[in-house]
Amino acid sequence: MSAQSKSGRRADAAGADSGDGIHHVLILGAGYAGMSAAVQLGARVGRRPDVRVTLVNAQERFTERLRLHMTATGQQLAELSIPELLEGTGARFVRGWVTAVDAGARTVRIDDDRVLHYDTLVYGLGSVADLARVPGVEEHAYTLNSAEDAAVLADRLDRLAGADADGSSGSGTVVVVGSGLTGVESAAEIAERHPGLDVVLLGRQEPGASMTPKAGAYLRAALGRLGVAVRSAVEVVEVLPGAVELAGGERVRADAVLWTSGTRVSPLAAAAGLAVDERGRVLTDAALRSLSHPQVYAVGDAAAIRQGYGVMHGTCQGGMPTGVHAAVSIVRTLKGKEPRPFRFGYYHTPVSLGRNDAVVQFTRPDDSPRRIHLTGRTAARYKEAVSAAPWPTYGRMKKMPASGAVWPRGGRFTRSGVQR
Ligand SMILES: Cc1cc2nc3c(=O)[nH]c(=O)nc-3n(C[C@H](O)[C@H](O)[C@H](O)COP(=O)(O)OP(=O)(O)OC[C@H]3O[C@@H](n4cnc5c(N)ncnc54)[C@H](O)[C@@H]3O)c2cc1C
Repeated sequence: MSAQSKSGRRADAAGADSGDGIHHVLILGAGYAGMSAAVQLGARVGRRPDVRVTLVNAQERFTERLRLHMTATGQQLAELSIPELLEGTGARFVRGWVTAVDAGARTVRIDDDRVLHYDTLVYGLGSVADLARVPGVEEHAYTLNSAEDAAVLADRLDRLAGADADGSSGSGTVVVVGSGLTGVESAAEIAERHPGLDVVLLGRQEPGASMTPKAGAYLRAALGRLGVAVRSAVEVVEVLPGAVELAGGERVRADAVLWTSGTRVSPLAAAAGLAVDERGRVLTDAALRSLSHPQVYAVGDAAAIRQGYGVMHGTCQGGMPTGVHAAVSIVRTLKGKEPRPFRFGYYHTPVSLGRNDAVVQFTRPDDSPRRIHLTGRTAARYKEAVSAAPWPTYGRMKKMPASGAVWPRGGRFTRSGVQR
């Protein structure tokens, strides 16, 4: 149940104004990182009379972004209700689209003109595919930016692949732009679910380029087995109705284009005057607080978090620990203690290749590949376990918050601390 329907008063969810003796913690975004922060905080301090924890998100249903390529091929995912998960934690849920953050007044505006006050903000609005860099993407390409967007693509693919009026099976060409992991997973899934469609994967790099040669070769061979035509070292310069244009002028026919290349973050942090990097991600100190506004914590894809090996890139494996760490830090500051530095090291890159195959590349803390990797059904089971893990993890954290505070700290790769 949303805070609005519970209280019947719109602005009460996170406190309409300050000075009520309550410390208001407002969490923006219920992705993997924001959910981790909300459950941790709710479980640890949500029932205290002097603390109010409020989570704001565009949808009540949790979006399993790791599985949006499955949604895009018509596979039904579980209905995961955020307000239901938070029940019993003391954290409240407000459904709404955040339209502005006023870092001076410490308020957040929601699209229905509610204004929520905060004493501490956790900024976790995630990232989406960048549609602005190449002309025509916004107008003509599909994305996996949300469950709704993925469902629209599923509908298009069903219609393309479906039986024609004369009873024969449909056909068409689906172009997936971006040879990163999202592009690879999507191309493989579409080829497996719709064997009648031609799937073309276009990108600058060879798929699997970040893996060891052996793991990368397995990934490319699996794409080949599924019938995905891979073209690397190409630059898409425009998306047109019915085609994509490459640098040099060549056009590749496309009945549907899925855009997975590049990400961008919400402009709200920069507009609020928070210090951000060149991509608009919030710059943080070692404890994940905004460099310019220490009462704001930034987590997940929306944050530029520097570790000994460089700035973390957006993943679920790193995003969930940032949310937990922000929550633990807030609890420490409520007790008058200093927050501890955040440390995280990568450990794997699991990539699905349809439902029965995958590659899991194990990595060093700096995300460089180790020699060891898994392939085939074992890897597919591993990947499925990883994708399914966040929701039960939140459930466990509700009962045992400390269970969520376990992740690889990165050893010597992060011991050097923050380098700027
Ligand atoms: C198809 C696909 C496969 C992937 N596979 C993997 C993988 O195997 N492993 C891995 O580690 N990572 C993977 N990723 C990346 C991973 O999903 C992201 O790194 C992760 O979702 C980031 O979590 P987050 O909490 O920062 O943001 P998000 O998960 O993006 O959540 C942000 C939340 O904020 C909400 N929001 C945004 N703006 C507003 C607003 N203005 N008002 C209200 N709410 C708003 C969104 O609706 C969303 O609920 C994959 C991504 C995709 C698309």
